[in-house]
Amino acid sequence: MADQYLDFANTPFGRSLAKRLGLPAPVRLRRYEQGAALIPGAAMVIGSSELARTTGELLLGWGLEVRTHDAGHAKLGAIVVVLDDVTTPADLSPHALTLSPALKRLAPGGRVITIARPEQDGDAPELAAARLGVTGMLRSVAHELRGGATANGIELEGSLDLSAPSAQAALRFLLSGRSAYVDGQFLRVDSQRGVLPQDADRPLVGKVAVVTGAARGIGAAIARVLRRDGATLVVVDVPQAGDALAKVANEVEGTALQLDVTRPEAGELIAAHAKERHGALDIVVHNAGITRDKLLANMDAAKWDSVIAVNIESQLAMNRAFKAAGLDQLRIVSLASTSGIAGNRGQSNYGASKAGVIGMVRASAPQLSSGVAGINAVAPGFIETEMTAKIPFATRAAGRLILPSLQQGGLPRDVAEAISFLASDSAAGINGRTLRVCGQSLIGA
Ligand code: NAD
Repeated sequence: MADQYLDFANTPFGRSLAKRLGLPAPVRLRRYEQGAALIPGAAMVIGSSELARTTGELLLGWGLEVRTHDAGHAKLGAIVVVLDDVTTPADLSPHALTLSPALKRLAPGGRVITIARPEQDGDAPELAAARLGVTGMLRSVAHELRGGATANGIELEGSLDLSAPSAQAALRFLLSGRSAYVDGQFLRVDSQRGVLPQDADRPLVGKVAVVTGAARGIGAAIARVLRRDGATLVVVDVPQAGDALAKVANEVEGTALQLDVTRPEAGELIAAHAKERHGALDIVVHNAGITRDKLLANMDAAKWDSVIAVNIESQLAMNRAFKAAGLDQLRIVSLASTSGIAGNRGQSNYGASKAGVIGMVRASAPQLSSGVAGINAVAPGFIETEMTAKIPFATRAAGRLILPSLQQGGLPRDVAEAISFLASDSAAGINGRTLRVCGQSLIGA
């Protein structure tokens, strides 16, 4: 989508004017392109554990130039800090102080990634302090980066290491341009489950995927990215959106199913369509969603009930139907929202439904924990759509001032990239989680 402010801020005049006026100076984010280098420069690995050594080997195996010391003046495409061996907060110091000078050489669009153990029940106080300390350090670093660079972490439960397919897949996702708008977030790997794709550029080859609410917006972007990544698509939307839906179906060479997802038989109809037309159903993306904003003091039953029905009740009912149909190897990804995490004025109904999604995926995960099955959510923040493009230029520019570090909204495509990653078999070791795609901000719809 044309974005005049981003274009303007990236001209020499625009850059200097923005600086003088204290306006945001967003840069073009490094987004995924097939065939492009995984990162924009060499990778530096910080850490002295066995996991740090195997991290370096893995990156070498991916064809990257890997350094263990900050030598030379070339730009670093990524800095991976391996902290699985910290046992007390004092242990963070040598790693933080090695990271410090290296940060100055991080390339635009570069990545800082921590690999560590999550804090867990039963940890000694010192250990818990050290492990949560990693998260506080990483999130703060994410706020400090500029030039479209981001910082995220991977948390490996128990004694998991990089032999876990999802640990490798998470590392590749976070390094790549697919994670352009994921910032200050953690991907938790809790099992050895998962299968790495033969072709990392087309991880969904051979999969049949259903995307609800796919006639426009984020849903249409999800359908396009899943298609690019190799999936065969069934796109679903309400009959009123039939024309737009047919266009998306044509574009992604899939089939269209006109269906209101709140219909009680929606799950059966989707499963039957996928099986009859494409022989299987492997991936479901619950994207259909609505807002009916009103302060709770002025709320009526129609506004409250419709949002709950579309955004969460329909997903619960469809998941029950898929289970009853014996689809026990599904990979399901649901759309939550940062409003379900932080709440949002005028969105008590929407916030309830989206927090509900987060709870639903957490509680459903144990039932989808064999083979490659699994369920996760993505929580978008401020995503620039046709809707936000209509907001006047100055208001939009000012709005971005409160979007930290990246200083811009995300694109529907950024949400779609995270969904494609979580929908892949390689992500089966990540289950019941919600990944924010929010440029490290909690504002959004
Ligand atoms: P959108 O309104 O542009 O598109 C939603 C689509 O869902 C529409 O095509 C609509 O017809 C369809 N839909 C609505 N009710 C349906 C039903 N009962 N059955 C079938 N289809 C139905 O919205 P969007 O901005 O693309 O949002 C997509 C998802 O992302 C939603 O779940 C939304 O809550 C979530 N989200 C969006 C943002 C954002 O900034 N846009 C932020 C956070 C979360």
